[in-house]
Amino acid sequence: MMEYLLDLSAWEIAEKIAKKEVSAEVVIRTVFDRIEKTEKQIGSFVHLRKENALKDALEVDRKIKNNEKIGALAGVPIAIKDNMVMKDERSNSSSKILNSYESIYNSTVVEKIKEADGIIIGTTNMDEMAMGSSTKTSFNGATKNPWDIQRVPGGSSGGSATSIAAKQVFLSLGSDTGGSIRQPASFCGVVGMKPTYGRVSRYGLMAFASSMDQIGPFSKTVKDAAFMLNVISGKDEYDATLSTREVPNYLDSIGKSISGMKIGIPKEYFIDGIQPGVKKIIEDSIELIKKMGGIIVPISLPHTKYAVATYYVIAPAEASSNLARYDGVRYGYRNKEATNIEELYSKSRTEGFGDEVKRRIIIGTYVLNAGYFEAYFKKAQKVRNLIKQDFDNVFETVDIIVTPVSPTTAFKLEDKKTLMELYLEDIFTISANLAGIPGLTVPAGLAQGLPVGIQFLAKAFDEEKLFAIGSAFELERGKFEMPIL
Ligand code: GLN
Repeated sequence: MMEYLLDLSAWEIAEKIAKKEVSAEVVIRTVFDRIEKTEKQIGSFVHLRKENALKDALEVDRKIKNNEKIGALAGVPIAIKDNMVMKDERSNSSSKILNSYESIYNSTVVEKIKEADGIIIGTTNMDEMAMGSSTKTSFNGATKNPWDIQRVPGGSSGGSATSIAAKQVFLSLGSDTGGSIRQPASFCGVVGMKPTYGRVSRYGLMAFASSMDQIGPFSKTVKDAAFMLNVISGKDEYDATLSTREVPNYLDSIGKSISGMKIGIPKEYFIDGIQPGVKKIIEDSIELIKKMGGIIVPISLPHTKYAVATYYVIAPAEASSNLARYDGVRYGYRNKEATNIEELYSKSRTEGFGDEVKRRIIIGTYVLNAGYFEAYFKKAQKVRNLIKQDFDNVFETVDIIVTPVSPTTAFKLEDKKTLMELYLEDIFTISANLAGIPGLTVPAGLAQGLPVGIQFLAKAFDEEKLFAIGSAFELERGKFEMPIL
């Protein structure tokens, strides 16, 4: 009914609601109409909470009417990934093993969104347990890319990316362990950000690889990503790895000049195998950044070539340990025929996990095995350090690193990719997780009608520079239309 609202940014809709130009209720109803119209084609969501979201909206409207104090996100419709928990609601990490799971508590990000009066619409589809880069391994079936429904949205946070691209919500959250926010953002033509490790609390995020998992925003604009990061960052006594650093106001970085900023271009990221269309857009973008006053500095990150191998030792190792809790006893799915405890574990896990999750548990258990620990896990940790040192070195001379996000545009749903090909999808995103640094994807152009994102990396806790260059680039690039659905 109020379709034009859907083209606004989260910042704009929040402003309209606060100024009483539109009620939160109308916004929520408009969003659910949109979801009804588009969801069959796209499949962004796993669980929707229409009734409760409407109740939340009425509460926001009541506060506004009574001139009570409201939070920054008052009335803004937001989606969370299916691996984040919300009290009395379902989230299942898109896995059969958690099919009946309902949370008894709020994750910290949900708590902070609620404190800011944001409205959670539901949870979004993902690769099972966040393992993958296509959203095809979800127990719920695949999500489709709004730019071409024959194609994947990327993953693992595919549904969070499509919920923005299909204009179903104004903000969403994803989690990124090896690229799961940045790669789907690139495939779907939206903004996606992985904050510094320790910036956003992981409490209530179903753990995949705890030393790399980070929650971050998806949005239409860079400003909206800063808007959301302001809300979800910082203090929380439930996550011991959280930084105690003060959270700056990230919105202050939006629109700052980047003149004189030193921009590193790592030669290892411009390799054979990048689709020519993608390469051209990244090269043109670098030219644009130069025109904007950025000083281009060729750099080298010599250990890049080991990143994928290192990640695929460390991530499965941590996953095998994290996923041990899904035993058929404590949460979710349980096999009914088992006659003893051993059988109960093994049957519940055999039936509850999909192939990719099992594969990673097996690899993880193997590399942690006493006989192989030194050869694989310990060695991977050492190489991880070298990768981190590469970044420490270059960030002594540059402010920002610019790279492609993915070597390709969104691939076809039916494409039978080999495991190796799929793992290589993450080649440009994984290093940031190994090093713990923040990364931002911004839409840069279209190659044969499909979106291509550019990646900006900065040193730990330098998100402000990412928002500065991201917003400046976005402005210079010009308007990026969403697909028509
Ligand atoms: N695609 C990577 C993987 O399969 C990254 C996943 C993620 O970031 N959660 O592990």
